[in-house]
Amino acid sequence: MTDRETQLHELGETYLPAEVLERFRERADIFDRENRFFDEDLAELKALGYLELFVPESHGGPGLSLFEVSRLQQRLASAAPATALAINMHLMCTGVVKAMNDRGDDSLNWVFDEVMAGEIFAFGISEPSNDWVLQGSNTEAVPTADGGFELTGVKIFTSLSPVWTRLIVHGAITADDDGIAGPDADEPAEGELVYGFIDRDAAGITVSDEWDVLGMRASQSRATVLDGVVMRPERVSRIIPAGKHPDLLTFAITSNFQLLIAAVYAGVAARALELGAAGLHRRKSAKSGTSFAEVPEARTRLADAHLDFMPVTAMIDAYSRDFDELVDHGAGWPLRLVGARIKAAEAARRNAETALMCTSGGGFGNRHELSRLYRDAAAGLFHPPSADAARPMYAAALLDG
Ligand SMILES: Cc1cc2nc3c(=O)[nH]c(=O)nc-3n(C[C@H](O)[C@H](O)[C@H](O)COP(=O)(O)OP(=O)(O)OC[C@H]3O[C@@H](n4cnc5c(N)ncnc54)[C@H](O)[C@@H]3O)c2cc1C
Repeated sequence: MTDRETQLHELGETYLPAEVLERFRERADIFDRENRFFDEDLAELKALGYLELFVPESHGGPGLSLFEVSRLQQRLASAAPATALAINMHLMCTGVVKAMNDRGDDSLNWVFDEVMAGEIFAFGISEPSNDWVLQGSNTEAVPTADGGFELTGVKIFTSLSPVWTRLIVHGAITADDDGIAGPDADEPAEGELVYGFIDRDAAGITVSDEWDVLGMRASQSRATVLDGVVMRPERVSRIIPAGKHPDLLTFAITSNFQLLIAAVYAGVAARALELGAAGLHRRKSAKSGTSFAEVPEARTRLADAHLDFMPVTAMIDAYSRDFDELVDHGAGWPLRLVGARIKAAEAARRNAETALMCTSGGGFGNRHELSRLYRDAAAGLFHPPSADAARPMYAAALLDG
C-alpha cells in the first residue's frame, strides 16, 4: 500500500472499524424491514466522532478533507446505504462550511461549534416540482422587520427527519401582506433567494407521517412542512438572485452534495460487486462441473461491471482532491461534479443487477442483502439534476461556444 492508502485505511479503522461496519450491515436489514430510522447506527457514529469529521482542528474536530470523507462514506455505504445517504446530509452541511472557510469566508463557522455541541444538521432544499433546485424555490420567504424571514412551503425528502435539529433551507423572497418586500428600499426584493438555517424547535414545522418507499428506507426522508417558520436574522446566510448566479455558498453545496452522494452510490456499487463475486463462487454448475466462478460467461459479466466501475471511484477521488486543493475548474466544475454523481448512481444500479445475475435466484429473496441493495440503488435515480436535466449542460459545453 502507498503511504496515502495506508493513511486512508487507518482512517477507515478509526471512524468505521470493521466490527462496527458488520453491525451496521446486520441492522440495515432490520431497519429496512421495519421501515424505521437507524437510531442505533447514529448512536455509534456519534460515539466514533463521525458527525464531526469536517470540523477543523481549530474548532475541536479532525478537519478531514472532502477526499477523506468521501472515502469514508463509500465504506459506510458498502455496509448501510441508507445510513450513509442520510448522514451525508449532515456531513454535507458541515463540508459546505469547511469549504467556505477554506476559501476565506468564515461567516458560517458557528456551524462547527454547534456540531461539536451535538446539533444535527440536515438539508431542506428539495421541493415538489421545483426542478430549479438551488436556483429557485417554491417556498415563500417573507422578510421580518428585524432582518430575518418567515418561511412557508414544503420541503420534500428531508433525510434524518426524526433527529435533525438544524435545517438548511432556501426560499424565494416575497412581499408581505402590505406589499413591502423588506424594511426599506435597500432590503431584498422579489426575484431573490434567501439561504439560511432554521431550528427544529421553531414554531410552524410539521414532519409528514408518510414514508413508505422502495429503497433507502432507514433514511426516513419525510417531507417537512413549513408554516411561517422563523429564520432568525443571525441564521440568514446568503441573499442571492434567483437563477444562475455564481455564489460561494451554492458552489460549496453543489460540490459537497454531488461528490458525497456519488460516494454513497459508489459504496453500494462496490458492495454489489463483492456480493456478485461471492454468488459466483457459491453457485455450482452441473453442466461444467465447477462453480460459476469458473464459467467464462459469468466471469465476463462480472469483469465488465468491474471495468465500468473503476472510472467512477477515480472521478470521485480526483474531483474531491481538486476541490480540497482549491483547483479552479471554472465552468468545468458542474460537468465534473454532476458527472461523478450520475455515473456513480448508474454503476450502483448496474452492479446490483449484475450481482443479482451472479447470485441467481438466491439474491432475489427478500432476506438477501442484494435484493435490498438493488432497491437502495434505485434511489439514485432521483437526486438532482437527473440525467435528463443534466444533458443540456454537457451538450452546451461542446456546442454553444
Ligand atoms: C432517499 C432520498 C433521500 C433524499 N434526501 C434529501 C434530503 O435530505 N434533502 C433534500 O433536499 N432532498 C433529498 N432528496 C431529494 C432528491 O434529491 C430530489 O430532489 C427529489 O427526489 C426530487 O423529487 P421529484 O422531482 O421527483 O419531486 P416531485 O415529483 O415534485 O415530488 C415527489 C415527492 O414529493 C412528495 N410531495 C409532493 N408534494 C407534496 C406535499 N405538498 N407535501 C408533502 N409531500 C409532497 C410526493 O409525495 C413524492 O414523494 C432525497 C431523495 C431520495 C430518493
